[in-house]
Amino acid sequence: ADARRSGERVGVWTTGMAAVRPWELALHAELRSAIDQGELELYYQPMAQAATGQIVGVEALMRWRHPSRGLLPPGSFLPMAERSSLIVELTWWELDEALHQCARWRAEGIPVAVSANLSPRLLVVDALPKVVAGRLAAYDLPPDVLTLEITENALVSQPARAAAMLSELRVSGVKLSMDDFGTGYNSMEILKALTFDEIKIDRSFVVDAQGSLPDMAIVRSVVDLGHRLGLRVVGEGIEDESSERILTELGCDVLQGYAVSVPLPARELTPLLAAGSRSAPAAGPGPDSPD
Ligand code: C2E
Ligand code: MG
Ligand code: MG
Ligand code: MG
Repeated sequence: ADARRSGERVGVWTTGMAAVRPWELALHAELRSAIDQGELELYYQPMAQAATGQIVGVEALMRWRHPSRGLLPPGSFLPMAERSSLIVELTWWELDEALHQCARWRAEGIPVAVSANLSPRLLVVDALPKVVAGRLAAYDLPPDVLTLEITENALVSQPARAAAMLSELRVSGVKLSMDDFGTGYNSMEILKALTFDEIKIDRSFVVDAQGSLPDMAIVRSVVDLGHRLGLRVVGEGIEDESSERILTELGCDVLQGYAVSVPLPARELTPLLAAGSRSAPAAGPGPDSPD
């Protein structure tokens, strides 16, 4: 018999939703309790001004310190969270944690800006601007310390609602960044319709720019386009000195990637932020250093 007509399948499919796999239900319950158990962490990756090496901001990247499976990257649990309303709770936690850390750094005299990634699902959650404003006020932070990163694909499903949400956020003073620029299919249309403050050129162009004339031409054009629109242009996934040099020569304003620093827990990043620049000399060996 045709499997698609078999009655057994009906129960696992819900109209308009992806299949819910049994292992996902277990993971979902675990992730739900992970929030309350304090198993989620934000790592922070610095962004450095290309011309000076000065650190101008950090991007918050979520990790799950799972009790038996170790430190899990967001790609292993966020997609599942995004298929349910769990992503909303995770986002409230993420925003609170990122802004709390931003306030701690400011209290230590480190005025670093924080970027947080926003799941596409949140663009139709009406409470978002209120929650953002509430968290900023709770930590006594001006809105422009926060940049929200959105991938262009976020705007595909309900474009009008998403656009209204983004302009409400921007009017509140929060900055907006278009993440993974160039990977969607309607980048130009989105740039035309919405006001961003920054674009982040996707790592795939950065990686391929080494020795590839078409990729170099694309990066150069994106930088030029960004600048003509008055936007800050960030290159992501800068892994080595050669891509660092190429992206700088192509006019990128800000560099982010392993060449600057891997994402780190806040306390490990603090000395680098306090020094202000990625080119600052590393601290000497401590008193209990092995040699
Ligand atoms: P993204 O926003 O494009 O973040 C950049 C990703 O590239 C991060 O992966 C980062 O660790 C990685 N990366 C940074 N520098 C380099 C490099 O030089 N080379 C290479 N190969 N990779 C580099 P990560 O942390 O695994 O995050 C993956 C994606 O998950 C992020 O992509 C973002 O879309 C999403 N994400 C992360 N944290 C959150 C969060 O708190 N909320 C939401 N909604 N999404 C998040
Ligand atoms: Mg991002
Ligand atoms: Mg990105
Ligand atoms: Mg990316």
